[in-house]
Amino acid sequence: MPEMEGVAFLEKAKIIYPDAKRVLLTAYSDTDAAIKAINDVQLDYYLMKPWDPPSEKLYPVLNDLLDEWQMNYRPDFQGIKLVGYQYSPKSHALKDFLAGNLRPYQWFDIDSNPKAQELLDLHNLDRKELPIVFFEDGTHLLSPDPRALSARIGLNANAQLDLYDVVIIGAGPSGLAAAVYGGSEGLKTLLIEKRAPGGQAGTSSRIENYLGFPKGLSGAELSHRAITQARRFGVEFLSPQEVNAIENDGHYKILTLNDGSKITSKSVVITTGVDYRKLPASGVDNFTGAGIYYGAAMTEANSCRNKKVYVIGGGNSAGQGAVYLSKFAEKVTILIRREDLSSSMSSYLIDQINAIDNIEVVGKHEVIETCGNGHLQKLVIQNVEDHSTYDMEADALFIFIGAKPVTDWLDDKLIRDQRGYVMTGRDLLLEESFKKLWKLEREPFLLETCVPGIFAAGDVRAGAMNRVASAVGEGAMAIKFVHEYLAEI
Ligand SMILES: Cc1cc2nc3c(=O)[nH]c(=O)nc-3n(C[C@H](O)[C@H](O)[C@H](O)COP(=O)(O)OP(=O)(O)OC[C@H]3O[C@@H](n4cnc5c(N)ncnc54)[C@H](O)[C@@H]3O)c2cc1C
Repeated sequence: MPEMEGVAFLEKAKIIYPDAKRVLLTAYSDTDAAIKAINDVQLDYYLMKPWDPPSEKLYPVLNDLLDEWQMNYRPDFQGIKLVGYQYSPKSHALKDFLAGNLRPYQWFDIDSNPKAQELLDLHNLDRKELPIVFFEDGTHLLSPDPRALSARIGLNANAQLDLYDVVIIGAGPSGLAAAVYGGSEGLKTLLIEKRAPGGQAGTSSRIENYLGFPKGLSGAELSHRAITQARRFGVEFLSPQEVNAIENDGHYKILTLNDGSKITSKSVVITTGVDYRKLPASGVDNFTGAGIYYGAAMTEANSCRNKKVYVIGGGNSAGQGAVYLSKFAEKVTILIRREDLSSSMSSYLIDQINAIDNIEVVGKHEVIETCGNGHLQKLVIQNVEDHSTYDMEADALFIFIGAKPVTDWLDDKLIRDQRGYVMTGRDLLLEESFKKLWKLEREPFLLETCVPGIFAAGDVRAGAMNRVASAVGEGAMAIKFVHEYLAEI
């Protein structure tokens, strides 16, 4: 290197690759310079000229240094990097979408992780454009919505065929089971999901009672296995895409999606499940996604490290959420209106909760107001008996207070019960309006709605059991009835 001295070179290299080992090859007469360089450039080793034979004098030294480097080297995360504000609903939606669709990503909170600002500076980007998604190939998306992100990571958002044998709406356990059976039995099957596969079960940290998994399995694992299985059988999967309407046109069902596009199928299975009930306390809408979350215990657990977390609800989903969050949070308080959990939660979960030191169960209290500046900071809690109130600091609130069927999008032609669940099979025979709508000689099949060829399965169906196993069972059964229906048209 005639244009630069060795020590100067190492000084420059140190700025670019601070973790690289530094070795100086020096002449015997330059030993003093080498010793000085140990301090100046944190030299790891200096070699004396000549290095012959290299197998004795050069390679062993370099091998040792490389071994040492390898032991301390932690490779940079390869994959999607998401930079944003912790308390931003848009960031939360992207985290939820990536986690739900089982895409590994690394989250960088701009306020607490200096690497986040480094990433922005490196790409000459401004905080105004957050959240920003960085990809492995060096490209990025500024403040994308889940659909734009989905298109970028290669998820399917447009249907490939003009006509399907069966379209399944909703990829919870029921829809996934229907898809696996539809695909495996040779039907041209399309599965449409508005968020991410797994449905409610996908948000569960541990399902302990699903047959065949004695140690339990997480909802994410169950959905991952199921979607892989469905794809193997040739099922087409559209996500995120929401179905807004179904029209019945003779033997064809025409589905309208959120983006206005239409899909035609001979039969439809509705597996849209249920959605969380909204907490009626004041201020909740202001902080949803910014400290207040419906379900989502798994997506946001990491951000609750050493924080004060509240869980509202006394059912199994609240219990599972609290147990999971307790591994991260400083303290988890379960708030319920009843005196205790005994009438609403399985005893195995109550035992688990009692054995965890940082979970407290507070009975006979409810949240009436949520306050904060840009994100949740305080709860106003009321005693349900004497109505006295007090304030508590809270970093996050997870709401699990029951569910309502996702059927608002259906028109009046499908008969639903008083609570909005879709009615099927013989239950329909008792409905006055059914006689006017049903024109076939036969009775509706067990899971058939009042429109021939449209079926409902899982939690969305009136009389469903609200269990993963029963949802899966009904999804599989629905395909049996689809076959019978297709045979008659
Ligand atoms: C946290 C939690 C823990 C649970 N733990 C257990 C347990 O341990 N054991 C157990 O047996 N059960 C458990 N359950 C209950 C179980 O998860 C449900 O009974 C089951 O998920 C119901 O499945 P489903 O397919 O009928 O509906 P869902 O799981 O509700 O899935 C419906 C899907 O449809 C999608 N969708 C809705 N509308 C549309 C639309 N218009 N277009 C496209 N897609 C749409 C939704 O995004 C969703 O993915 C738990 C539930 C929760 C919330």
